Amino acid sequence: VLPFARGLLAACAGLALSTADAQSARAPLTGARVVRDVDSLWGAAVTRQTRNSSGAPGARAWAQSAKYLLRATLDPAGPLLRADGELRYRNRSPDTLRTLAINLAQNLFARGAPHNESVPQTGGITIDTLCVAHRAPAPAPARCADDALSTAQTRIDHTIMWVTLPTPLLPGDSVDLFAAWHFLLPPSDAPRTGSDGSVHLVTYWYPQFAVYDDVAGWVTDPYLGVGEFYADFADYDVRISLPGSYLIGATGTLQNAADILPPAVRERLQRAARSFAVVSIVNDSVRRARSATQPGAQLTWHFSAPHVRDFAFYASKDVVWDAMAGQVPRAGGGLDTVLIHALYRPRERGWRRAADMGRQSLELFSRQLWPYPWSQLTLVEGIVEGGMEYPMLTAVSVGGTSRELYSTIAHEVGHMWFPMQVSSDERRFAWMDEGLASWLERSALRASTGHDDDQDGLPSLYRMVVGMRAEQSMFTPADAYSGALMYTAASYDKLVVVFRAFSAEYGDSALVDGLRAYGEAWRGRHPYPPDFAALVFRAAGTERDDFVREWLRGTGYFDARLDDVFRERDTLTVTVRSVGGAHLSVPVTILRDDGSSETRTISAAAFRRESVQTLQVPRARAVSSIVLDVERTRPDVNPSNQRWAP
Ligand SMILES: [Zn+2]
Repeated sequence: VLPFARGLLAACAGLALSTADAQSARAPLTGARVVRDVDSLWGAAVTRQTRNSSGAPGARAWAQSAKYLLRATLDPAGPLLRADGELRYRNRSPDTLRTLAINLAQNLFARGAPHNESVPQTGGITIDTLCVAHRAPAPAPARCADDALSTAQTRIDHTIMWVTLPTPLLPGDSVDLFAAWHFLLPPSDAPRTGSDGSVHLVTYWYPQFAVYDDVAGWVTDPYLGVGEFYADFADYDVRISLPGSYLIGATGTLQNAADILPPAVRERLQRAARSFAVVSIVNDSVRRARSATQPGAQLTWHFSAPHVRDFAFYASKDVVWDAMAGQVPRAGGGLDTVLIHALYRPRERGWRRAADMGRQSLELFSRQLWPYPWSQLTLVEGIVEGGMEYPMLTAVSVGGTSRELYSTIAHEVGHMWFPMQVSSDERRFAWMDEGLASWLERSALRASTGHDDDQDGLPSLYRMVVGMRAEQSMFTPADAYSGALMYTAASYDKLVVVFRAFSAEYGDSALVDGLRAYGEAWRGRHPYPPDFAALVFRAAGTERDDFVREWLRGTGYFDARLDDVFRERDTLTVTVRSVGGAHLSVPVTILRDDGSSETRTISAAAFRRESVQTLQVPRARAVSSIVLDVERTRPDVNPSNQRWAP
């Protein structure tokens, strides 16, 4: 209503601001509110110039960051994780923060915690100690008894802990927390983490700062089980102690290989780094002989992972270890090597190909999108049903065929781009990472076998909800879906359909260019749906708003129907209807008895004006058939109504 006045206000506010009296943190909004009001919240960020209406980060873009120095001890007998660490939070926002929100995901398993899928109970996480440095920045505190520290004032609301800071955290400053905690690992029927007594997948295991971003402020939706995660980028330095002869797969790179791995294992790893075939680093006989690691009752593995959105690890003494090299293009020419690891129990024979499956998808996506940025990728077997992704690490458990294992691995490797690099909010906008991973999974299947598993280009859950007339928009708050089917179809399948529609209309390369531009703009940052829509679909030009409204946000579907063919003398009048409300151009191919054909295209814009369009076709007697979308590139929900013959 008042764009001029609003602009003026923002300018005045900008003048009045100084670092010392910057605006205070805004009260947290609910996830449902952010999903519903995403356009106005995003518009306000554009006004504040943290975002740009082009979909790129704005001149005043910022993102918070953190540094975690963590020490963990895993006692597999518990299985109990005991840890402590120094957690530094850097406030790069223009806002003064008086409290910090911290995720305690393990409290999903505490008694009485709300959840939206069935979860085991472990008692949740126990925070043994938490203290805050009085002034920020302060030297990293060693222990809470220190004079410079005070026991933190906290309020724990299930999976979110609020910490009241002794002094407000000003823009540009940082604050140090020291914490000690422990918890029992949940059993393997927990989502995304757990232990089956043989392998231990340790994830969401430390107090992790919640995201505070420029669009929504604090993001403190509780972890309920179904919705996933959102995280700022942080630097991790992690030491993990556990019994000798256990192997670890983790985010980051191992800093003390010589302390942990015997010379023969290290030599095989070096060989794997130059090998384009799978090298067995620890085979079953090495494992049984307990010579996979250096001798020692307890070993401490030291990992480092700069600028990632999370850190997770997997540990077992029952697994073998394969590795091989993948190659990705290096910026400025040449190739970089990525070491691909697979850790799995020997009974899982299909996993002998897992490292190579990881390599294939990693190399493919590195060419399609942009190069995988890290020096290693680790695939681990067990615990999670299907797959679950962490930076540089994915856990996969698939009972089926080699094709199913490959498609799951490809999906999880796709997540190394979205959300591990392009860090969207998975809980509020699941489609921003799941939809993209689902699309990448299909491109990996096509590249390796020539086809994906979608019938007529339509993923099965999408086909089902459209058939039931029960589709819900991707822009539905997570708890407003009427069921898991609607949620899953919107989060995983719909974007695949949208991308097919976009590719059919504007070309495959326009989509890839859009995704690359989106990645270029938002790697290491937090995009929101309007940023995605503006950059990924920018090749649509003036039609972009229509495309986004009908396809990305709406629940229209595409069904081009040959309604009627009417002959008068030697002219055919062909009536074509675009039925579902999501429009695309429709190529109409006229085949004649002499084998010739011509194709005339009715534009999407024409169908938007009027969903019924007609064509006049001369030389009617020679027409042998008329076919809509003869190459079947469009995601048409009913391809049986596209052909006519006299
Ligand atoms: Zn996924």
